[in-house]
Amino acid sequence: MTCGLEPIVPILRWSFCNIRSTTILMEPAQAVTSNGNGSYDYDIISWFDSVSENAAMFQRETLHRILEQNYGVEYLKKWFEDIKIQEMDACALESLYTSLVPLASHADLEPYIQRIADGDTAPILTHQPITTLSLSSGTTEGRQKFVPFTRHSSQTTLQIFMLAAAYRSRVYPIRNGGRILEFIYSSKQFKTKGGLTAGTATTHYYASEEFKIKQEKTKLFTCSPEEVISDGDYKQSTYCHLLLGLFFSYQVEFITSTFAYSIVQAFASFEEHWKEICNDIKEGTLSSRITLPRMRKAVLDIISPNPSLASQIEEICEESQALDWYSLIPKLWPNAKYVYSIMTGSMQPYSKKLRHYAGTLPLVSAEYGSTESWIGVNLDPSLHPKDVTFAVIPTFSYFEFIPLYRQEQDWTSGAVDFIEDKPVPLSQVKVGQKYEIVLTTFTGLYRYRLGDVVEVAGFHNGTPKLNFICRRKLILTVNIDKNTEKDLQLVVERGSQLLSKYRAELVDFTSYADVVHQPGHYIIYWEIKGDVEERVLGECCREMDASFVDHGYVVSRRTNSIGPLELCIVERGTFKKILDHFIGNGAALSQFKTPRCTSNQMLLAILNVCTIKRFRSTAYS
Ligand code: AMP
Repeated sequence: MTCGLEPIVPILRWSFCNIRSTTILMEPAQAVTSNGNGSYDYDIISWFDSVSENAAMFQRETLHRILEQNYGVEYLKKWFEDIKIQEMDACALESLYTSLVPLASHADLEPYIQRIADGDTAPILTHQPITTLSLSSGTTEGRQKFVPFTRHSSQTTLQIFMLAAAYRSRVYPIRNGGRILEFIYSSKQFKTKGGLTAGTATTHYYASEEFKIKQEKTKLFTCSPEEVISDGDYKQSTYCHLLLGLFFSYQVEFITSTFAYSIVQAFASFEEHWKEICNDIKEGTLSSRITLPRMRKAVLDIISPNPSLASQIEEICEESQALDWYSLIPKLWPNAKYVYSIMTGSMQPYSKKLRHYAGTLPLVSAEYGSTESWIGVNLDPSLHPKDVTFAVIPTFSYFEFIPLYRQEQDWTSGAVDFIEDKPVPLSQVKVGQKYEIVLTTFTGLYRYRLGDVVEVAGFHNGTPKLNFICRRKLILTVNIDKNTEKDLQLVVERGSQLLSKYRAELVDFTSYADVVHQPGHYIIYWEIKGDVEERVLGECCREMDASFVDHGYVVSRRTNSIGPLELCIVERGTFKKILDHFIGNGAALSQFKTPRCTSNQMLLAILNVCTIKRFRSTAYS
């Protein structure tokens, strides 16, 4: 099979921004053209070098730009009143801003965002009209969280993609014009009451001009057409991604997904369906499991019978099966240079399985960002996921850092909490210190607490390189789902309401995110007082599963990338045994709090030995 590849290398042009009297390169322009002289990588890297060398200045100018663009919007007016900021210098504005505008959580901004979602077109958070909202894990509990999405969001996605690709290609050069096997999925977009388009940020990006620009200008094409990415059936999309990835196997330069678990899950599905996929490649057909007409047509328009490729793949699979699929990826995609995905934070447990499928092929950790804003780029793609750091991009948002000091260790609790100090700007962070990130964005979030804990690992020129530590208040997560202690509490409250009808009560509870067994799932342990029929407990289990409203959880449950919730009923006295265990290990009774989520092996051993009944949720089935 030939690739028909042309040597095309994209270059970036600078966009010059006049901020008052200063001319500053705030961003590489989105227009990328190819001239084959290899200057793209150099240009974007030298742009980032100059920006990171002057990180403090770029941060101040970024803040100035955000505030100037949104001068007089309702939210800012509340704090600035009639102060004229236009004539202020960037330093003075930075200190005025941080002294007048308070830190905010998603809950604080939500009433404003809700009005936008309901169709209020007044300049509430931004002057630029907001027509699209993204769903984020945010920092509130118990509800879907909207954050504004604008063209700027897609533009920065393209910029960080280009920057990261330039750093990757220094270490792992790829052939210009190849293909990418991308396990990417759009979720459904829907309309809010006020007619705004809502969906995940990645969904908006895949539908954006920038996603097309990236493919056309870099001449690196995803194997799957838009219909496979966006038709909304996770299993059918995965089958087609695999089929097309194999159809173009010799052209594939790297394999990627946003989060690592998607790749692991795709290969688990490949283990099941490889014979069917081989048959489709041999015959140029498409399995009847693909029922979506648009997707069927788009895939059938691409593939054609290729018996020799099919028999090569068959041979590889027969051999690999005997080796438990070890090193399958480089065997199927002989020209692939690496596997690229987010493997840090809650994705770290998946890197082991990924390493198994990838054999000796490099695993490259992808960038750090959130629905609210991109944050940092991985400048050293050869690092192991556990050592990866992210260099903050000082032109994307205005970043502040709340210093966090660990409280005397509360080792009975799974949750980590910290004592806070006053937020500091990016230029004042210290190596080795942990911080919570605060964002001021071009999309109308002002001093917004992201809820992520990071540690400063060092500097790239003047910009900090961050280690991702954890979600500050997150306790339950399997993959993209994020649930706090509060979320869990609300769910357990709902589930246990049924008990009171049967004169029974919940004595105590805890939980565990089981990622050892695939698909990962939540286990909730209950100790109850009173006799309750099994039928009712099964209903409690279903009710809890259905009550988690975190978008990541709901989507993952629908697609079965998180399995049904498990309710374990433990015998009476179990939580007393847990208390005794901690007391026996030196905890003070006055300080003891039942851990609401645990991965402590000793505690899990007690819980599992004491489990007398197990139920699996039937929600989503
Ligand atoms: P969401 O906005 O719901 O997509 O989730 C964004 C969150 O995912 C961030 O705030 C982080 O907690 C987590 N996240 C994103 N990128 C990374 C990364 N590279 N490493 C670890 N965690 C990440």
